[in-house]
This record gives sequence, C-alpha cells and structure tokens, in this order.
Amino acid sequence: MSHRAHDYRHLIERWRTVARKSGVPLRRLVRADGYEHFYLRTPALTETGGIYFSAGIHGDEAGSTEALITWAERQGRKLRHLPLLLLPCLNPWGLVLNIRLNKQGADLNRSFHRTDLPVIEAVKRIVAGHQFAASLMLHEDYDGQGIYLYEVQHIPPYWGEALLKAARAHLPTDPRIWIDGRKAARGIHRRRIDKKRFEQIGYPEAVWLHFEHSARSFTVETPSEFALDRRVAAHMAVIEEVVRRVTG
Ligand SMILES: [Zn+2]
Repeated sequence: MSHRAHDYRHLIERWRTVARKSGVPLRRLVRADGYEHFYLRTPALTETGGIYFSAGIHGDEAGSTEALITWAERQGRKLRHLPLLLLPCLNPWGLVLNIRLNKQGADLNRSFHRTDLPVIEAVKRIVAGHQFAASLMLHEDYDGQGIYLYEVQHIPPYWGEALLKAARAHLPTDPRIWIDGRKAARGIHRRRIDKKRFEQIGYPEAVWLHFEHSARSFTVETPSEFALDRRVAAHMAVIEEVVRRVTG
C-alpha cells in the first residue's frame, strides 16, 4: 500500500467504496487548492456526543490518511451505526506533493482562528451545532522515535495512557523527554491550553475543537520514518480505543 499513500484520487475511490458498502454517503466538503474535499457524517451521529476524526491536514503525513481509510474499510456496514464525523483528508494538495503546508503556504493546523481559508470555513460550517464526546486528529512526525500524543487537559480521568497502550503492539511509545521543544512524559503532552500562546502561533484544530466543540481532544503522532504498515496499525489501534471508550 505504501506506493499509493500519496495518491489522492485512489484514496477517494477507496472512500467511495466505503460509502457504498456502509450506506454512509461521501459528501462534498469544499473545493480548494484545485481539489474536491470530502467528509462523511454517519446517521448515528447526533448533535451531542460522537467522535470527530480528521486526517491529512499536513500533506507529508500519509500514514494518517492511510490509517483512517483502512480502519473505515474494515468496519463494513457497522460504520453507519457508529456516531462519527470523518474528514478523510484536509490537505489533498499537500498529500499529492508530500508537503506539510497548503497551496498558499499556510499551515492549516495553525489556522483555525482564520476566516479566509475555504477548507477551515467549510469544516466550521459542518461542525456548527455539534458537541463531540471526543476528537482525534491523526498526524505524523519525522523526528518521532515512537508514537506520542497531545491530550488537552480538561476532564479527568485522562485517556492518553490507554490510547498509547492500545498502540504498543505496533509501535513503541516515543521515549524522548523533549518533544517538539516541550516536555513530554511517557509519550504524552498534557497541558491546559495557554490561550495567549495559541493566539501568537495560531489555532490548531485540536485547540479550536477544545474551545468550541469537543469534550476531549487528542492529536496523535506516529513516526514517519518507521514502516507505513506499523504507523497505520498504530493509528488504527488508537482509533479503535477511542471508539470503544465513546460507544462502549
Ligand atoms: Zn502534522
């Protein structure tokens, strides 16, 4: 599967097959940077509860988009009975070119405070009125030495440790003490949101969701130098654990 992980057309064909088999329509989100963007909203999703999943906001993190489609393919008809909003790929232009940023050079994951980006505006439109139980953003890190995550500090008990444990059969937890310039503990960055800091660097998807739409929000990072099948399997294990905790 590795040779096609940056093939957006192929990715969307796979999502069309998921849509057909599950009975959950693949809906058009927006056209931006020369590509149609899509989303799926299962009939089981109501305004309160459920899970927001997104992948591919950074184009050089193909393990994220590959994991979400592979997980969805394995659900079959069951997918429609899970309460989900699925964003299969928020930066197709970047995915095709293996570039983190969008066509205008914007980091979409630092842009949720902006009102001039069609993709961000479209996501805000479809999410309006929703309050999710959890949101999971799938990412990758080329400096990663294992899997790690950011968990917004909000409501205990926290889930971060359990999510990494679920992935451990596929990837070790990143052993670094300093990750992305900040201190982590056993693969987990967990802090209260410093609003001022994000007003300076720009709002990530997880921070926007935390403030407006989600009780829990997680950004999961797999190491992009590791084999794709392991990164995909690790992300899928985390997805599965979040689904189990929200719906179980
Ligand atoms: Zn990323």
